[in-house]
Amino acid sequence: MLELENLVFQYGRSIPPWRFHFSVEAGQCLAIQGPSGSGKSTVLNLIAGFLAPDSGRILWQRTPIHQQKPWQRPVTSVFQEHNLFEHLDVFTNIGLGIHPGLKLDQHQRKAIDAGLERTGLAGFGPRMPGELSGGQRQRVALLRAILRRQPVLLLDEPLTGLDADTRHILYAMLLEEKARGITMVLASHDEEERRILADSYWNL
Ligand code: ADP
Ligand code: MG
Repeated sequence: MLELENLVFQYGRSIPPWRFHFSVEAGQCLAIQGPSGSGKSTVLNLIAGFLAPDSGRILWQRTPIHQQKPWQRPVTSVFQEHNLFEHLDVFTNIGLGIHPGLKLDQHQRKAIDAGLERTGLAGFGPRMPGELSGGQRQRVALLRAILRRQPVLLLDEPLTGLDADTRHILYAMLLEEKARGITMVLASHDEEERRILADSYWNL
């Protein structure tokens, strides 16, 4: 279970502080909903460790993680800017998510190829990010996050802008991850995304 316990965060004195208090059972998806500028990305950044709370705790399986560095947390994030390494090809971008030293076994290499094929990117492994469309980059970033298989997956408006066919493939993949026990926090103002993926809600 992922728990945000009386978490308080403030960017500066001019904006009132946010207070977050919710939990997500393992294998469930909680949707953070609210209009643009309401703090959805902020809460994901707090869980990921890119922002530090002023007070309160974040726990994973009852262990506090809010003082851990981002890379020590059991968390993977897909942010809107889908940050790919521009000088590395698609296969390497995904492979580095699975193993930072790119030491991939046959099973993991096959999982990357199968994932590319499933998301309509068969044969894209050797391409450079600069050669991809926005939607293709988004699929690579999402695939990289899914294949990392961290226990907690943070998704920031993950399917915005993708066509209906691609969205439905990705919904199926994300639902399979949930069935496997992956815990998700979804920041989304998209009703369809929330309806298909979310088990519970936090309103901002
Ligand atoms: P959402 O994801 O719901 O659109 P955000 O979490 O990105 O909302 O932002 C919430 C609010 O915090 C916005 O009003 C935004 O302007 C403000 N904000 C975001 N980042 C910063 C920052 N680095 N410094 C100060 N204010 C910020
Ligand atoms: Mg946002």
